[in-house]
Amino acid sequence: MEEVGTGLLDRLDAMQRVAASASSGAMLIVAGPGTGKTRTLTHRIAYLVAELGVAPSSCLAITFTRRAAGELAERLHALLPDRAAELDVGTFHSLGMGILREHHDRFGLPADFQVTSEEDVPDGFVSMDDLINLPVQLLSADPVLADRYQARWPWIFVDEYQDVDEAQYKLLTLLCPPDGNLYAIGDPDQAIYAFRGADVKYFLRFAEDFPQARTVRLTRNYRSAAPILAAAVQAIAPGSLVQGRILEPARRDPDPTLVGLYSASSEADEADHVVRTIEELVGGSSHHAIDSGRASGNTTLEVGFADIAVLYRTDAQAKPLLAALERAGIPVQKRSHNRLTDRAGVRAIARELPFLTGTVAARIRAAAAGLTSGTLAGAGLEAADVHTAVELLAPLARRCGDDLDQLLTELRTGAEVDALDPRADQVTLLTLHAAKGLEFPVVFMVGCENGLLPLRFPGQESDEAEERRLFFVGLTRAQDRLYLSHAARRFRHGAERELPPSPFLSAIDASLLARRGAGVSRRKPRDQQLRLL
Ligand code: ATP
Ligand code: MG
Repeated sequence: MEEVGTGLLDRLDAMQRVAASASSGAMLIVAGPGTGKTRTLTHRIAYLVAELGVAPSSCLAITFTRRAAGELAERLHALLPDRAAELDVGTFHSLGMGILREHHDRFGLPADFQVTSEEDVPDGFVSMDDLINLPVQLLSADPVLADRYQARWPWIFVDEYQDVDEAQYKLLTLLCPPDGNLYAIGDPDQAIYAFRGADVKYFLRFAEDFPQARTVRLTRNYRSAAPILAAAVQAIAPGSLVQGRILEPARRDPDPTLVGLYSASSEADEADHVVRTIEELVGGSSHHAIDSGRASGNTTLEVGFADIAVLYRTDAQAKPLLAALERAGIPVQKRSHNRLTDRAGVRAIARELPFLTGTVAARIRAAAAGLTSGTLAGAGLEAADVHTAVELLAPLARRCGDDLDQLLTELRTGAEVDALDPRADQVTLLTLHAAKGLEFPVVFMVGCENGLLPLRFPGQESDEAEERRLFFVGLTRAQDRLYLSHAARRFRHGAERELPPSPFLSAIDASLLARRGAGVSRRKPRDQQLRLL
């Protein structure tokens, strides 16, 4: 391949290099999953700093979850070992929190105001929404201050731009003028947060908001084996928001495995299928090798528990899965919808941390040990709650080292997904929403049923287009193996119900699927059972 540009950009393909080395001005990267958007973004920042002499402190990189921000920071550190610490990398909420901390007095807030997710917000507390809304108010009312922030961060980068909501969009436009250097990356087909107020229209009208913006499309997917990518492309096609979408596999595996589709008789049967398949893949104590030719050449992939994710639409589906995995002795970590600080035990420990000394981990241990039985009883807690809380905090504490401020900020602003430890040798259980942006060698996507995917509540219409995008996000998390499954009977809304397979499955060509299981209910009409064959 022809070598253009500097060594820094050599690990990018031609289009990624164009996107990473562009001159100043606004830029939109419209690209599908696994095309290297995050990779391009980190190389762009490294290029600006290392090659063009841009000051790291003038770069602000924003994502949506702490885990994504942590990954960005790690990758930037690898590219710019000496300068990465000077970059401002965070989530929308940590950005808002930083601005509020600098101007807390304007809102009559104490310097050490706390963030709460609780319903009633007492003095000195700020809600998650206010972390964005108050800075928007502040900067809208004070253009001089807005100018100061614009001068502080002339280079702004936003990943997953398709999931920006109105308040976040307003904050961005206050921080970045129309002729500014906003580098926005995203994929409209992965817009899955409409239910929380996100609106893909901000992505689609980027060229109007930033009239000088250039657009780059990336089309080569480096993540997934060809059958997985083909299945995903077929699944999104009927609802794609991207005109003329091209997503080609960069990988050339010699003999790639088809996408598994297991028809279970019940949710217990489905959970058994997940357990059996994991046992086959990991094969006892020694890790099992999967042949996997990467684009860069044939390599052998070791499958450990950490390489495996089980994705589902609703948290309720996790229960039978967790039980089956734990019965089989398979280590798991699960993400719940709650924030860590929703746990009373975590709150009790967090309150003590500023008064102790030592590393974050040591402070947590000391705080847990120091909670007297009287304090616990007063807070309506038991010793077990405190024990569960240290465990929950451990991965975070490892990341934060000596930086208590980071821990407290992350605790207050993040969701529990971010507490997952990507290095732990455990199978990861995640909702589809929480899986966005992540990748795993082996992915199980369970509950592919009409009613669950698309999700439908009794008497309510489902947002079929958004549900299809969610299905697409799930399929495209997989690198080497993808196992889909659906159960003919499942406990939902207080009773056992029969659910037909997801209509999204029928968009996938049968030649890409390896079907197993015979669990389709006998009472179902024959044509519905065989629709996918
Ligand atoms: P998503 O939409 O799911 O967030 P993405 O576009 O951000 O995906 P990345 O996570 O940046 O994609 O990249 C996907 C995978 O492909 C990563 O493992 C990355 O290292 C790899 N990759 C990206 N570009 C290249 C390249 N030019 N050469 C080799 N590997 C690459
Ligand atoms: Mg990404």
